[in-house]
Amino acid sequence: MSTKYIFVTGGVTSSLGKGIISASLAKLLQARGYSVTIQKLDPYINVDPGTLNPYEHGECYVTDDGAETDLDLGHYERFLNVSTSQANNVTTGKIYQTVIDKERRGDYLGKTVQIIPHITDEIKNRVTKLGNTGQYEIVITEIGGTVGDIESLPYIEAVRQFRYEHGYDNVMVIHLTLIPYLAAAGELKTKPTQHSVKTLQSQGIQPDVLVCRTEYPLTVEQKKKIALFCNLSDSSVIESMDADTIYDVPILMKKEALDKVVLERLKLQLRDEPTLDNWKHFLEVFKNPKRTVRIGLIGKYVELQDAYKSIQESLVHAGVSNECSVDVVSVHSEDLTDENAASELTGMQGIIVAPGFGKRGLEGKITAIKYARENGVPFFGICLGMQCSVIEFARNVLHLEGANSTEMDEQSPNPVIDIMEEQKAITNMGGTMRLGAYTCEVLEGSLSHRIYGRHEISERHRHRYEFNNQFLEQFESAGMKATGKNPETGLVEIVEIPAHPFFVGVQFHPEYKSTVANPHPMFVHFIKAAITEKEPVSAT
Ligand code: GLN
Repeated sequence: MSTKYIFVTGGVTSSLGKGIISASLAKLLQARGYSVTIQKLDPYINVDPGTLNPYEHGECYVTDDGAETDLDLGHYERFLNVSTSQANNVTTGKIYQTVIDKERRGDYLGKTVQIIPHITDEIKNRVTKLGNTGQYEIVITEIGGTVGDIESLPYIEAVRQFRYEHGYDNVMVIHLTLIPYLAAAGELKTKPTQHSVKTLQSQGIQPDVLVCRTEYPLTVEQKKKIALFCNLSDSSVIESMDADTIYDVPILMKKEALDKVVLERLKLQLRDEPTLDNWKHFLEVFKNPKRTVRIGLIGKYVELQDAYKSIQESLVHAGVSNECSVDVVSVHSEDLTDENAASELTGMQGIIVAPGFGKRGLEGKITAIKYARENGVPFFGICLGMQCSVIEFARNVLHLEGANSTEMDEQSPNPVIDIMEEQKAITNMGGTMRLGAYTCEVLEGSLSHRIYGRHEISERHRHRYEFNNQFLEQFESAGMKATGKNPETGLVEIVEIPAHPFFVGVQFHPEYKSTVANPHPMFVHFIKAAITEKEPVSAT
């Protein structure tokens, strides 16, 4: 099968939503029967975003095969319902690491190693690697950053060469750009787009399609003007209006016939017209909720919306499954104390404690869990959130003095969460956690078993610390049960308090696996419990 390649670049500003446009296009092509995957090339020098603070680029997403990736891969999976892998996210750091390793091995046979051709060749290899799997008819490659950035240059040059090497009919470039509205002039302005396209042209690339982000509809004249000054046909100028939800974008792109323009340009058959019935049904329910449920999301990166992207989206999916809208109230864990917990958390019908690293904000998370446990508020702890629920139980139910995770207190007399033996010798931070999919056996008769409806599940991980099994008996006899375990290592993956209406902590990250087509059962049942439980009474 010969593969067609679509590159997506961005102009004028960052944060225009290249990931959503790429995922939406992929969705439309998938709905026409094409096998599609999406890849993200990130121009930063970190080998992967695993070492980045969430304040930098938002959440770090994790694939089944244990890649720590850009959060756009989460959008790809949520839209397409197809798993991505290590090959789907490549950074400048990865490219250079490979090239330098080859140089050290002597693979370049004495040649001077240069950006062109060695770095550009490696970039092209990473793109064709996906095409050569034979799994995909179309590979969409999103190039991070903005055209004109110094660090994007090798990528743009690689695309230029790629088009020559693979043939005009097999490779196309979509440029996503902004048409700003100038309130003072009362006008949409096309000039930044013209400049951005000129920058791309000066680097040897004529885009085939322009997707124009705009707050107001573009007139026919404006589209024609853009087409004229950017060397495009009128139909290749696609309007992308701001949408209420990212899930509207495939429908908006279909109206603009983006998929048709792309297929015609790549000389591919149109195949069946996509009906997107399931997608439209999802949107219909999402926009007409029967009720609202209020969920407190306790974390320490709450100022930044993207820090908990997958959790937010999982809640959207779970809300739709329950025909309700989820009002997520972000609560900064640093602001929570035993004194204000009741007033801050009153009215929350469910509480999620988010994943995280380090000491900051930890005590506030524990306080929130105490409140949820004591007041019968549905609680869902994810990764660090689960670890905090264990610490809370140890301190307040088992009365284990100074109970903690050794991540926060190495000297804790009661290290109920401890580092895994095999992690102790590791000094490198990057890519060294327990990462990717692991099997978990779910205890029959438990709430989790009812939720999953299965005995064996597979979920993705990203952590170093674990429940300390030395304490397991004490926990179980006092009412906190380990209901999910890794069958090979015996590591605790799920804890529950059966006496509580809904109290579940998971060591893994279910949020990475929730998609529009397959909302994650843990989130679906957590929301169901939040709806069912009556308004919680305040502790005071
Ligand atoms: N910091 C904890 C650990 O490393 C939890 C990580 C997480 O929440 N992803 O085990």
